[in-house]
Order: sequence, then structure tokens, then C-alpha cells
Amino acid sequence: MKKIYTLTIFKACDLYRKEIAATKELKQLMADYYHKLDHFSKSNDKKVAWCSSVGPAEILRSLGFEVYFPENHSALLGSSRTATDLIPYANAIGYSPEICSYLTADIGAYLKKFTPLTRIYPTIKSVPRPDVLVFNTNQCREVQDWFGWYANEFKAPLVGISTPRNVGEVTNTQITFIAKQMEEFIEILEKISTIKFEMDELKKIVSLSRECSDLWKKVLDTAATIPSPLTFFDGTIQMGPAVVLRGTQQAVDYYKILLAELQERVENHIGAIDDEHFRLYWEGMPIWGRLKHYSELFASLKVCVVASTYCNSWIFSAFNEKDPFKSMAKAYSEIFISRSDEYKEIYLKKMINYFKIDGILFHDAKTCPHNTNSRYGMPQRLEGEIEIPTLILNGDLNDLRCLSDEQSRTSIEAFIEQLEDR
Ligand code: SF4
Repeated sequence: MKKIYTLTIFKACDLYRKEIAATKELKQLMADYYHKLDHFSKSNDKKVAWCSSVGPAEILRSLGFEVYFPENHSALLGSSRTATDLIPYANAIGYSPEICSYLTADIGAYLKKFTPLTRIYPTIKSVPRPDVLVFNTNQCREVQDWFGWYANEFKAPLVGISTPRNVGEVTNTQITFIAKQMEEFIEILEKISTIKFEMDELKKIVSLSRECSDLWKKVLDTAATIPSPLTFFDGTIQMGPAVVLRGTQQAVDYYKILLAELQERVENHIGAIDDEHFRLYWEGMPIWGRLKHYSELFASLKVCVVASTYCNSWIFSAFNEKDPFKSMAKAYSEIFISRSDEYKEIYLKKMINYFKIDGILFHDAKTCPHNTNSRYGMPQRLEGEIEIPTLILNGDLNDLRCLSDEQSRTSIEAFIEQLEDR
């Protein structure tokens, strides 16, 4: 029987969550972004660079590249619930089912000549062809393996930044080391794009990225209000421009519209869900194929998942147009995922306090150890130090075989009962 897939990434509301009107503009923005990429990939009028999600997109834009983010594509595979069926094709060529299911789903989709983009935008038949692939290991080594496979497949150059991980303080030595790597690959990128690097252009783009980041922070911070006008599930949809369009005026314009709508909700005491009783924090990756499921489950229990490390990871407060390379090096090295447990715990305590959180949900994503923080005692340490209840949910970002909806429901319901008894 032919499988029917549904695409839920743009589904703005569910049974309980209030629809965000700005999502209509978001849909258009993302449609324009993907159509433009498709056009330039086919026409070769402009070069296309693939970039890891917390990679140096600003440098690429300053050199006239259209920038494509494979992680966003893989999240679409997850949210369209096609990822699980595609992963085995990557396993068959030697990529273990235990490793990053962004990587395996994306390579599996490529091998099967499938992209969920065609279901949303029928004229787009494939992901754009890369002229260069650029990664940063600040998040994990997997992006290097992932991009390396495509570089070989497309016979395209691969350029990367090696960032130290598990760091506490980000030192000046580290910032200089990363900035130097960025400066050194300008020459390679100039040759590919055939556009000469201009510092003023980079400054302009870094400034736009900073504006985007500041607005995105304000959007997420509205969730500190009781009741929260925004949920984590909204955030996973609304973060699209912060990921794929930072450094552009369009992203800035969109977040102004979104922020105004959320501020209006705050002024009128309108919560994203009705009757918010408890407020949770989501630590770890989203479960892309179950966003709607968990959004409805939590809302039915009168629980608002108000904030997350994941959505906050695209806030780059260090960007400074006056010193673009060093500020980019700082911003991209300070991200949560590349920090030590000590740093992460301090960060989480601040978030718990700021967002008035009643409990933390740690998602243990089977195939992403880097964005899973429940395996070395962190939940227990936080429970002991700040008496915050925690729950560990076993699952995965894309591979739905790692998840049991029934078991998760039982543990979530028991957790909420525990909060009620406090
Ligand atoms: S951070 Fe995790 S999900 Fe993202 S690319 Fe790396 S291993 Fe995959």
C-alpha cells in the first residue's frame, strides 16, 4: 500500500495550541528561500554553499553565495516522518544506525532521490547542488563526515573550521585560533564564488545577523511571561529564519512582525495554551516527527513547555560588526553544545529561574550524544542543587524506532502528577 506522508513543519496549531498569525509570512519566506536556492542551483548564476547550522554563514553571504543548510533539510525529513524509512539506505553503505540520524536520514534520502521539499514546493525536485561545503565542528564531528560524503559525491571542495569542544570559558586564545581559520579560507572561497571579499559587506551582514539574533532572543524571552505566549513547539517552527536566513534583511523583518504579535499576546494575557498550570523546560533535540503529538499531550495536561536550549542556540549575542572575524569566532564558539557540563549547569540554572520553570525534561536522543545531557548525572545534580524535578525521555530527533509513545506518555503523566503533589 502506498504510504501517505504528511508534512507538519508549518502546521501552526494543533488541538490546543493557538495559531500564530505571522506563520503565514513565515511560510512565504521559507518558500522564497528554497525557490531561490533551487533557481541558482539550476542556473548557476550564483554559487551555492552548504553550511552547517552554526557555521560561518555570514562569510558565505558576504561572498555572494546562496547558503543551504542540510540540517534544516534533515529536520524536514524528520517532521514529514519520512526519515525513519530512509535511514536504512545510509546504513547499507556503512553508516551505523547508532550515529546521527540527521546524517543517515539525509544521505538515505539522497540515495533514494527523495526530498520532502517536492511535497511542499512541487517544482523543486532535489536539494541544491553545492559549489562548496563549509562546516564547523563546534557542534560535533558528524557534520564533517556528513559534508565530506557529499563533497566526494559532488566533487566539490570541503572547507572546515575545527573548534575545541567541552570548554568552560571561551578564551582569547581560542577566539584568535578560530578567527584565523575563518580568515584563511576567504581566499579559497573567493576563487569559488569569483567575488572579491569586501570587509564592508561582511560588516553589514554581521550587523544583520546580530539584529536577527537580538530579535529572536526577544521572541523567545516573551515566554518568561505567565501565561507564556509561546511554546517550545512554536519555537521549533519559528526558528527557521534564524537558522537559514540570518544575515539577511528578510529575517530581521520577519522577527519584527512575530515579536509584535507575541507582545500583543503578553499585553492581553493570552497564553499559547489555555489554562497553563505547569511550565517545563525542554533540554535536548526536538523529536521532529512527534512535535504535534507532544504539543497536544502537554497542552491536554495543562502544561506549557515554555523554553528550550535548542531554540536558544541560535542567539549569538557576541556578533559585532566592528570586529567581524573575532566576534563571529566568539559567537560560534560560545554555543551551549560545545561547552563543559559545569558551564551548561550554570546556564540551565539561569534559564530555570528566568522562565519560572517547574520541571526539566531531558530528551535523551539515541543518535545525538552531543545534544544529550542526561547521560553523565546532570539531571540528578540539578535536582540536588536547585530542587528542580527532572524527567528523562528516551527518543531520537529523527529515528522514530527509538521512541515509544506509550512509554513516554506514561512517564510524562507520572511526572506531572509528581509536580501536582509538590
Ligand atoms: S549535533 Fe547531533 S543531530 Fe546535529 S549534526 Fe551533530 S550529531 Fe547530528
